[in-house]
Amino acid sequence: MDGTVDDTRGRTVLEIVDVSIAFAGTRVLDDVSLTVDDGEVVALLGPSGSGKSTLLRIVAGLEVPDRGTIRVAGRDVTRIPTHRRGVGMVFQDEQLFPHRDVGRNIGFSLEMAGADAATRTARVRELLGLVGMAGFEHRRVTDLSGGEAKRVALARALAPRPAVLLLDEPLTGLDRDLHDRLVTEVADILRTERTTAVWVTHDRAEAEAVADRVLDLPTLGAGHR
Ligand code: ADP
Ligand code: MG
Repeated sequence: MDGTVDDTRGRTVLEIVDVSIAFAGTRVLDDVSLTVDDGEVVALLGPSGSGKSTLLRIVAGLEVPDRGTIRVAGRDVTRIPTHRRGVGMVFQDEQLFPHRDVGRNIGFSLEMAGADAATRTARVRELLGLVGMAGFEHRRVTDLSGGEAKRVALARALAPRPAVLLLDEPLTGLDRDLHDRLVTEVADILRTERTTAVWVTHDRAEAEAVADRVLDLPTLGAGHR
């Protein structure tokens, strides 16, 4: 004990409360509930088709649940559009903007939000340092390696300091060496930024390597309470 008190630790940032959705009469999520604390990385495991992407899309506001509530930082965002939820996303098949250089990819959301050039430049530089790519501002994204492109996609999602970062199989489909390197690197980056995150994967070893808590999505529904 060093006597310091971190009064943000343990505060709930994301609340998923009794969320249900069906497609064409088939229930995909059945009263799913989950809370994630500030700075916590939760991995959600589940086989293909178990509703992992659907749950993240509901949290992000890209899909509307039939029932249930999503709260971010205590605010009910269930009916709030994606860009006002304070949620960032990284996907498996993340596409960078090919006509923008690395810096303008990372600074994209800040540009859209009307941040001034000095603010954007400073945040882009900070993020490039964080992901181990200092000095890459003016590189073309088409010249990046697969690992570099992944790190730029992560930096782009972190740029606006989202309250919650959602990662949907972000490292699935990469070759083994790159996958294993990025697992460590991305986990370190999330810790450094104290990011609150939900990381979806079907790979249990990956989940255990990146997360503070590993949960099986099928156990979060009504049938298991
Ligand atoms: P996972 O990410 O775990 O593989 P998904 O959330 O992508 O699973 O899909 C769960 C189930 O819901 C699948 O059977 C899928 O076909 C179905 N599904 C997802 N989105 C839609 C949609 N927009 N319309 C119809 N069915 C969908
Ligand atoms: Mg999926």
